[in-house]
Amino acid sequence: MEKPDRGLHHLLGIDSLTDRDIESLIERTLELSNGAPASSASVTTANLFFEPSTRTRVSFELAALRLGMRVINIELEKSSATKGESLEDTVATLAAMGVGCLVIRHPQTGRLQQLAENLHAPIRLLNAGDGQGEHPSQALLDAATLAADGLDWSQATIAIVGDIRHSRVAGSNLKLFDRLGAGRLRIAGPEEMLPDPPGIERVEVCHSIEAAVRDADVIMMLRVQRERMDRAGWPDPDQYHRRWGLNPAHLELARPGCRVMHPGPINRGMEIDGAVADSDQSLILDQVRMSVFARMAIFEWLH
Ligand code: ASP
Repeated sequence: MEKPDRGLHHLLGIDSLTDRDIESLIERTLELSNGAPASSASVTTANLFFEPSTRTRVSFELAALRLGMRVINIELEKSSATKGESLEDTVATLAAMGVGCLVIRHPQTGRLQQLAENLHAPIRLLNAGDGQGEHPSQALLDAATLAADGLDWSQATIAIVGDIRHSRVAGSNLKLFDRLGAGRLRIAGPEEMLPDPPGIERVEVCHSIEAAVRDADVIMMLRVQRERMDRAGWPDPDQYHRRWGLNPAHLELARPGCRVMHPGPINRGMEIDGAVADSDQSLILDQVRMSVFARMAIFEWLH
């Protein structure tokens, strides 16, 4: 794989990737998913998650293990973060012990960028989700999943539906799908869950799920990010489902064979019907499968 020639680098967001980086990362993900041998890396990586995670943490761990890397999972509640140590000091400490790579999830938007700007230690940072900012590895694995499924980007209408405002997945995916030349990009969700401004200029903002999914080739559903709202803003799950939940009738409005995606965790009966999530049109588990290969490609690219 072609690697960037710019010394120590990180994966913080989509904007920091060149077109060539994006192309090689997706290409390499697909090669690995088709059984290409992985390169081996004698690097130690650590997972530092300040928010819960199942898919992202486990797939970063599996990806590292498949490359022969050593993996450390830092248990936050047993770490010195509970004694008041700053994130900067934790990172410097891990780097001094020889940890070469740090996968971080943090509730504060932009925290990884800030950390990288003041970093003096030789350690690579991987953004595994920062608040409502970005989740670049999720966007790369989503793009690889669609590429493997044969999506023709220039002809594709992609609709992202749900809590767009608080979603770092939407943040990274809209940027990446735009860079990949998606034909039409739509977002839809309740007024209070729409971003203002919508991030990417050419995004069409739809005010109903029906308008968003009409003739769509890809529908990506997003979870309501309760953890980023105050209690007063939480919608009633049944009401939300009636207005914004994806059901089988919506698939009839989309292009035949339209693909359904969701980064997980899914809330069945809220943003998506169980029957849709489990249908033949769902790529949800394909996304999960691809996540390990995408994260292997990212580790290879970083070293
Ligand atoms: N797992 C994704 C994230 O961490 C999506 C979600 O939690 O809704 O952003």
